[in-house]
Amino acid sequence: MVVKKEKPQEKIPEQHPQITIFSDWCKSCGICVAFCPKEVLSMDENGRVFAKHPEKCIACHMCELRCPDFAINVEEAKPAETGEEKQ
Ligand code: SF4
Ligand code: SF4
Repeated sequence: MVVKKEKPQEKIPEQHPQITIFSDWCKSCGICVAFCPKEVLSMDENGRVFAKHPEKCIACHMCELRCPDFAINVEEAKPAETGEEKQ
């Protein structure tokens, strides 16, 4: 019996939205943490917001819309890089 070896699939790096928290503007109210439907955001022991599970972000922008201080920004995931250069 001949076992045909399959060509390994090229791994494409997983892309997810980029979450930026402007700590100078953030007053640690926790609104963004409470409204995130995917539990992406969390607060550390000092009350600072951080993206605990950025890979779960669906870019719904609820956190941005609810933040009273414009202290959080979410950018859509960019298409995965193929490594090919454009001419
Ligand atoms: S964009 Fe939506 S899913 Fe992503 S961190 Fe904000 S509230 Fe959560
Ligand atoms: S809603 Fe805005 S100000 Fe409140 S914790 Fe989140 S980022 Fe900070």
